[in-house]
Amino acid sequence: IECGFCEPVCPSKGLTLSPRQRIVMWRDIQARERDGQDTRALRDTFQYQGMDTCAATGLCAQRCPVGINTGELVKKLRAQAAEHGKAADWLAEHFKTAMGGARLSLTAANTARKLLGAPRLNRLSAALSKTSKGRMPRWTPAMPQPVRPVRVGEASNDPRPRVVYLAACVSKVMGPAYADREQSSLLDKTRSLLEKAGYQVVFPDNAESLCCGQPFASKGYPEQAEHKRQELINALLHASRGGLDPIYCDTSPCTLRLVQDLGDTRLDLYDPVRFIRTHLVDRLTFTPQDEPVAVHVTCSTQHLGESQALIDLARRCSTQVVIPEGIHCCGFAGDKGFTTPELNAHALRSLKDAVQYCGEGISTSRTCEIGLSTHSGIDYHGLVYLVDRVTRAR
Ligand code: SF4
Ligand code: SF4
Repeated sequence: IECGFCEPVCPSKGLTLSPRQRIVMWRDIQARERDGQDTRALRDTFQYQGMDTCAATGLCAQRCPVGINTGELVKKLRAQAAEHGKAADWLAEHFKTAMGGARLSLTAANTARKLLGAPRLNRLSAALSKTSKGRMPRWTPAMPQPVRPVRVGEASNDPRPRVVYLAACVSKVMGPAYADREQSSLLDKTRSLLEKAGYQVVFPDNAESLCCGQPFASKGYPEQAEHKRQELINALLHASRGGLDPIYCDTSPCTLRLVQDLGDTRLDLYDPVRFIRTHLVDRLTFTPQDEPVAVHVTCSTQHLGESQALIDLARRCSTQVVIPEGIHCCGFAGDKGFTTPELNAHALRSLKDAVQYCGEGISTSRTCEIGLSTHSGIDYHGLVYLVDRVTRAR
């Protein structure tokens, strides 16, 4: 109906197209093709304007009075154009190897930073990124350091209540930025917070090979995505003793992907916000800090209906909470912050001014935090860092 209600939340509005404009342009291409016209030039333009610069997180659907999710349209079009099915198959089957490769890249970047220093590496990688026409991601001081693979302890006769900890691939690979005041990995921090609240933390078997499938789905490989998702659901059913134990997923986008279309599968799945508010708040005593904290509500947190709960939790932790106006989707979208950094920069162009008095920012997605740190001048890290800092066990 072209009402445009979706436009204010779209990170690409003003850079390329809004959701409404994407639909109009795609509809025009279809009409011309039905009419027998040559649309190659229009399709070429649409590739960048419509497809490459869409974060595909579907925030537009939240505002649309008729429920149109332009991100889903873009993912379907990406699937039609996807040409690397075999590579996606290989990746799905050898996920553990790929994780090792990602750690290796981050280790190399971190070593280069230690040898060259952050400013020189920043300049050098900017030049390399330009020469490679963006194929090589630019290193910034907000880039994560590598995380060592998870070490799982032996299960014991532990009387404490169990929680299954599902660490997302990014949390298993990407650690804190070198200058972040928080230097524990998200895994260690989360485990220690859960244990402080009296939980026994267990991990699914073969955790290094598991993935919710989100990276495959957003790149246009829905079959591989569903295969990984089912594999993960089976591993979670086993680890949670058939759905008996709650499952804590440390990254909102992965939680969202897992809770959709679960059907009859009984899994008690939580994102960080819902788990902390339902299971941890009563087990911990909060002493709020006075230092101002910026909060970024990810698209997935909004889809999960946990936005206000995240803000309320932040207010338990700090007497001064800042929610930057006009920032809805950060545009990082898993890896677009590396491959299409202008989308991230455009979406967060007003962030620095909005958070200038904050000492830190919090969120629930490690990749979003990279872009948020780059464009704000403050360090963004997971909500659990803040909760852990201001709480003690009851
Ligand atoms: S996608 Fe929905 S909100 Fe956006 S213009 Fe169309 S009808 Fe309106
Ligand atoms: S999915 Fe996100 S980037 Fe794509 S059209 Fe919708 S709001 Fe814009």
